[in-house]
Amino acid sequence: MNEPDTDRTPPTPSDSVTGIVGPPDALAQLPRFAGPSTFARLPRLDEVARADVAILGVPFDSGTTYRPGARFGPEAVRAASKLLRPYHIGLGVEPWTALQVADAGDVGATPFDIARAVEQIERAARALYADARHIVAIGGDHTIALPLLRAAREQFGPVALVHFDAHFDTWDTVFGNPLAHGTPFRRAFEEGLLAADHCMHVGIRHSTPAASDFDDDAALGFATVTTLDIARQGIDRAAERIRQRVGDCPVYISIDVDVLDPAHAPGTGTPEPGGLTTRELQLLLFSLVGLNVVGADVVEVSPAYDHAQITALAAAGIMFDLLAMFASGGRL
Ligand code: MN
Ligand code: MN
Repeated sequence: MNEPDTDRTPPTPSDSVTGIVGPPDALAQLPRFAGPSTFARLPRLDEVARADVAILGVPFDSGTTYRPGARFGPEAVRAASKLLRPYHIGLGVEPWTALQVADAGDVGATPFDIARAVEQIERAARALYADARHIVAIGGDHTIALPLLRAAREQFGPVALVHFDAHFDTWDTVFGNPLAHGTPFRRAFEEGLLAADHCMHVGIRHSTPAASDFDDDAALGFATVTTLDIARQGIDRAAERIRQRVGDCPVYISIDVDVLDPAHAPGTGTPEPGGLTTRELQLLLFSLVGLNVVGADVVEVSPAYDHAQITALAAAGIMFDLLAMFASGGRL
């Protein structure tokens, strides 16, 4: 009887020339439903010397205002990512071959004190840059973008934020609290983390607390492409506006999964009807290849509201799209 392969099998370089370690071969070594519970069954960061891109789980949701549960987002997205295959058809690249991608595990962030958790996430992200050139994070609620942007600012300078979301997330306070999932980008603006006049919201729609939100947000230097703009003017026009907006700045892409329609992402905290399809979001991302993307996050997957892994599969797919962008962008 053959010795069964287990996830204790030490990873071996999938490319003997570059030394890059990828996932186990799902057609000959270890089937997709088995093996490590890391993102896409990639090696852990401590199993490789260094990573071009580190996947970082941030299981924190104490900043949510409506449905909680995004603290379980990282494990749900990792579980859904087991199905990912090596070749990205849309961009024609193999991210695991082109880059050393590794899973850095989860940040230990307290669920009882938002300010303290934000400090813990910032510290973890800063430390991670010692071993990884770029971070792609899985949330968690959108509060986590603030500490991730602080660390990215330290590493790359002020970043042009391309923010995919049904909501602005530039409100001032929630119940008097300046740290919540509806406020990270106002704090980021105030702290000088963002490249002035190079940031953009994509996918804003449906309902917002007040008409003045648009002016308040614009005063912070953001431009907006609404979901209706995309529907009326098309993907290519929206992508052109985004590219013009960010210019040559280092770009940070933050994706709230609620930018997708609830049909495509029901498992999220604050769903809004009339959103993008997963395919529309993919087309927008693919059209941004070549920009100097330095970091990204995918947030607000709340598995308790999900069905048949619809949202987790979409989020895992978007993570794969982001990693393929890194692999094909040529700017690493
Ligand atoms: Mn949102
Ligand atoms: Mn958000």
